[in-house]
Amino acid sequence: MPGPQAFHPSANIAELRESATIAVSQRAKALKAQGREVIDLGAGEPDFDTPAPIRDAAKDALDRGATRYTAVEGILPLREAIAADANARFKGDGRVTPAEVVVSNGSKQSLFNACFVLFGPGDEVLVPTPSWTSYYEMVTLARATVVEVPGDPAKGWKVDPDLLARRASPRTKGLMLNSPSNPTGSVYSPDELRAILDLAAARGWWVISDEIYVRIAYDALAMGAFDVATRRDNLVVVNGVAKAYAMTGWRIGWTVAPPAVSKAMNAFQSHTTSNAATVSQHAAHAALTLGAPVEQAVTAMVKEFKQRRDAALPILRASKALTVLDPAGAFYFYLKVPGQGPDAGAAFCTRLLEEQGVAIVPGSAFRTPEWVRISYAAAESQVVEACRRVARLADTIAG
Ligand code: PLP
Repeated sequence: MPGPQAFHPSANIAELRESATIAVSQRAKALKAQGREVIDLGAGEPDFDTPAPIRDAAKDALDRGATRYTAVEGILPLREAIAADANARFKGDGRVTPAEVVVSNGSKQSLFNACFVLFGPGDEVLVPTPSWTSYYEMVTLARATVVEVPGDPAKGWKVDPDLLARRASPRTKGLMLNSPSNPTGSVYSPDELRAILDLAAARGWWVISDEIYVRIAYDALAMGAFDVATRRDNLVVVNGVAKAYAMTGWRIGWTVAPPAVSKAMNAFQSHTTSNAATVSQHAAHAALTLGAPVEQAVTAMVKEFKQRRDAALPILRASKALTVLDPAGAFYFYLKVPGQGPDAGAAFCTRLLEEQGVAIVPGSAFRTPEWVRISYAAAESQVVEACRRVARLADTIAG
C-alpha cells in the first residue's frame, strides 16, 4: 500500500503568506472558546447590521426568484447604478457604460481580477507602504514583482509623485492606490490624488484605485480617482458594499475599467467563480438605489465611527510611548509601539492579547513591523477600554 500522498505546494503559492488579519482573529476566537474575555479589534468589519431596507429588498428578491445564475459580470440594473455613480463623478471625456463594470464576490475578488489580468511575470507594481496586506499577495500571485514605496510617516504614510518616481523603473506596470487607507486611515486630498494620477498617466502605468472606504471619511468628503481624473484609460476603480453599508458577508464588489480590461476580467471570472451571489447583487442594487432610507443609515454609521475615533484617540495620544496617526477616514488607528527587535509590533500584539485580552493586528501585515493597527469598528466602550490597555502596555514597555 502506498503511503499518504505528500503535499508539495505548487510554485503558484510558493510566496503565499497567511493573512495576518485573519490569523489574529482566529487566535482571539480560540481564546474566547477557552472562556477568556477578549476585545477583538482585529477585523476590519463594521459591527452594524445591514440596514433593514436592504435586507427587505433581498428577501423580496428571493421571493421573486433571485436564485439562479446571472450574467458573469452581474445583473444589468446593478451595473447601471454603478456606472451612474461613476458618471456623476467623472468629468472627463466619454461616458462610463455598464459594459465597463464587472461585479464580483467582494472587492477582494475585483482587486485580484484586476491584478491578474493587468500584471504578470517581469512586471513591477508599486505598492505604497504600508498597504492592506492582500495587495502584496495578489500582485505576487499574479507573478509580478511588488515594489514597496514607503510613504512619509510624517504625512500619515502617504506617498507622492516624488516617492513613487524614485522607486519606478522601466518595468513599472502599475500602482495600487487606496484612499482612505487601510491600515493608516489617511485620506489623500484631491490635489495629492491628482498629482499621482497625472504621474501615472504620463508614465503609462495602470492605476488600481481601491475605494472601498471612500464613504467613510470624517473631516471632509473623500475623493475617488474619478472625482479628480481627466482621463480614465489607465484606471481601474474598485469599490463594493462591504464597509459603507455594513454588508461584508454579502460579498459584492466591482471594478469600473476600460472595455478591454473589463472584458478580460469577465472572461477570467467566468472560469473561476462565475457571477457573485444573485441575491447579494439585488441587495447591493438596493443599497445603491433606495436613496434616503439607506443614506440615513450610512450617515448614522459614519457618525458613530467618528464618535468612537474621537473618544479613543485622546487616550492613545496621552501615552508618550506611542506615535499615533490622525485617521481622517476608514476605521483604523495606526500607531508605532515601543519595543525592540525586527518585529516589535507583533511582540506587542502577542503580549496585548495574552496579557490584556485585546486583539489587534501587527504592522508586519502591512510591511511596517514597528507599528500596529487597531480597528474601531466595535462598540465605543470596548474601543475605549482596549485603547486604555494599549496605552498602559506601551507605557509599561517603555518604562
Ligand atoms: N480593500 C481594502 C483596503 C480592505 O480593507 C478590504 C477588507 O478588509 C477589502 C478591500 C476587501 O473588501 P471586500 O469585503 O469587499 O472583499
